[in-house]
Amino acid sequence: MNRIHLCLAHMSPSGAEKKYVQEAFDTNWVVPLGPNVEGFESDLKAFLDAPREVVALSSGTAAVHLALRLLGVGPSDEVLVQSFTFCASSNPVRYLGATPVFIDSEPQSWNMDPDLLKSAIEDRISRKGRKPKAIIPVALYGMPYDVGRIMETAGSYGIPVIEDAAEGLGSKSGGRALGTFGKFGVLSFNGNKMITTSGGGALVCEDSQTRQAAMKLATQSREQFPYYQHEQIGYNYRMSNVCAGIGRGQMTVLREHVAHHRMLASFYREAFSSVPGIDFHSGPRGAVEGSNYWLSTVNLDPALRIRGQDSVYESLAGEPHCRPNANVEALRIALDEAGIESRPLWKPMHLQPVYRDADAYLNPFNLYGETSPSVCEAVFKTGLCLPSGPCVSLEDARYVVDRITDAVR
Ligand SMILES: *Cc1c(COP(=O)(O)O)cnc(C)c1O
Repeated sequence: MNRIHLCLAHMSPSGAEKKYVQEAFDTNWVVPLGPNVEGFESDLKAFLDAPREVVALSSGTAAVHLALRLLGVGPSDEVLVQSFTFCASSNPVRYLGATPVFIDSEPQSWNMDPDLLKSAIEDRISRKGRKPKAIIPVALYGMPYDVGRIMETAGSYGIPVIEDAAEGLGSKSGGRALGTFGKFGVLSFNGNKMITTSGGGALVCEDSQTRQAAMKLATQSREQFPYYQHEQIGYNYRMSNVCAGIGRGQMTVLREHVAHHRMLASFYREAFSSVPGIDFHSGPRGAVEGSNYWLSTVNLDPALRIRGQDSVYESLAGEPHCRPNANVEALRIALDEAGIESRPLWKPMHLQPVYRDADAYLNPFNLYGETSPSVCEAVFKTGLCLPSGPCVSLEDARYVVDRITDAVR
């Protein structure tokens, strides 16, 4: 039997990706600009369907970095970042010598808590005498953050928002695409995201002037002279025309991919509703409509014991790091033995050794009768990501549910 993976790249059945890549070779556009880059950008713009401009880049991380640079973030600045995320949301803050300050999640969406955001802004202003320079909410696993309240709070203090929608391509809030509300939006086309360019990202900008500024920074800040003239430090961040060809092909199946992720999520939600102690993360009402369900996730009641994995429980006793509960690791290994890849949730940034000195604003939270210092820590310790995406069939998902049900019975 084939292994069931977490979320693999999935090419279009029509082979559109190869057609565009072949075209790049046939026309000798094997460079970081060209018709595929322009075509991919305009496909993305059409998909987002909002008054926004798009710049295709070498990665989502590059998009976060450029957004921060364009907002003038530098040493001595602070940026408020959702703690529950992948390190690409916050590392670029450090690239610029600035300081990330982490914000805990709300329990419903697992994303940036709007109330905590407001009190953190007040506290930073009273302590530092200055406003934070930017706010980065993240659509974790595709789930929309509370766009309305985050934008309202940010707006009332005049702080720009960079939406990290790297996992949220195809997610919406109030019918509008994530990434199109803030000053900037970030998308990723890494191998395991909603679509892939083998590696790549995009920056969503408010207007064509900002887009031009982003393009310039992404091409080493070259000035418009026949010779090479540089008046600022730039980066080599543009997307290759070959990779953009893959992206153009993937755009032909993006809507189907989103539908498939959502179909699997509905299946898991329904299937686990009758399994005590296994809780599917649906998100708040309304978000259910809006999430692309990039990855489906469940939480495990710490009281559940996984069958046949006693050695895992023993081996984990005394491990020094903040880590998923022993039963989560035991389930991960039980699934692995059954040919199923699963993975712990993102470990919150404020719990990462590399960010040990960073300030964090946290909500103490009680989950399964245990009190945790923060929502994201509680969710991280009890959570597991399940196979999702177009490479996972309904039959595969049924097998995943059966193996989990067996393991906890
Ligand atoms: C994947 C991801 C990114 C960045 O993407 P890359 O294209 O891998 O650089 C940023 N933020 C989050 C939350 C992500 O999951």
